[in-house]
Amino acid sequence: MTSAQQPPVSLEDIKAARLRLQGVIRPTPTEASPTLSALSGVPVHLKLEHHQISGSFKFRGASNAVAQLTQAEREAGVVGVSTGNHGRGLARACANAGVRCVVVMSDLVPANKVAAIQREGATVHIRGKSQDDADRAARALVAEGLTLIPPFDDRAIIAGQGTLGLEMIDAVPDLHTVLVQLSGGGLASGIAAALKAHNPAIKVIGISMERGAAMHESLRNGQPVEVTELPTLADSLGGGIGLDNQLTFGMVQSLVDDVILLDEAEIAEGVRHCYWHEGQIVEGAGAVGVAALLARKVSPAGPTLALLTGANIDMDLHHRIVAGETPELLHTDAPCP
Ligand SMILES: *Cc1c(COP(=O)(O)O)cnc(C)c1O
Repeated sequence: MTSAQQPPVSLEDIKAARLRLQGVIRPTPTEASPTLSALSGVPVHLKLEHHQISGSFKFRGASNAVAQLTQAEREAGVVGVSTGNHGRGLARACANAGVRCVVVMSDLVPANKVAAIQREGATVHIRGKSQDDADRAARALVAEGLTLIPPFDDRAIIAGQGTLGLEMIDAVPDLHTVLVQLSGGGLASGIAAALKAHNPAIKVIGISMERGAAMHESLRNGQPVEVTELPTLADSLGGGIGLDNQLTFGMVQSLVDDVILLDEAEIAEGVRHCYWHEGQIVEGAGAVGVAALLARKVSPAGPTLALLTGANIDMDLHHRIVAGETPELLHTDAPCP
């Protein structure tokens, strides 16, 4: 392989992150799903990453980034831009390390997520109507001396999320297909880099929602584009990829085999299935791999792993979804978006 073909985050970077995160993050279990295996005709495994500290995998990347700050950067503090889970993971990583943390987010973010970040001891600034607006506000804080820890387009973040790929291979050595959530692409880039370095034949399928799939639109256009953000049950998948995207657009373009989009009813079905058949409480974004299998939008040909990425859902909203409310009703008076 020539250096031009090496992804900007290598297997060595991801292995180094795994060592750095030992004793910091929680390695999460992988369990077989008898119902999804029967439905799909191949062994289907669920990786229960929604049980990660802070309720999502974002704690991995954030902890890896915070661990690599210089002493001067640690003393000045950090700023994050987040639809919720990155802010929460970053806040916890900073609290662990004794580093001051400011989180900037748009007003699309559910109130429960804002409260959770404040409980971790971070300061929250609400700025603008989109992730990109919030992004601009964060850059002003950087001018004041804080270090920006981005949610996805960053080597340390991608390597941290990539540690999930190493755990997947350990848990399912004959892995054929992996179903990974796709928003900004830090998660998919890291996992795909780890998996493809291990075995280039492993298929990595990215899954987004129909309502505002920025990476999907960008891939179709051959360059990063902005999309209109819309309320979705998969709120953690909202937000742009950044018009000046440096790493994840290219990594997703070269490493992710296919992208699938789901409608709101399909996402709700995924949340319901996780609850009634798997005994798992997951947020909308966390359930999209399961939802893609249920909707038969993927037909894997070998051992398959669906990642459950997050548990941070308003419990009243979750209750209404699993009780069978339709997405139309959920969107008219859902607690936040
Ligand atoms: C952030 C997030 C994603 C998407 O990760 P990206 O790196 O932005 O693609 C998926 N699920 C949950 C629960 C998240 O918090």
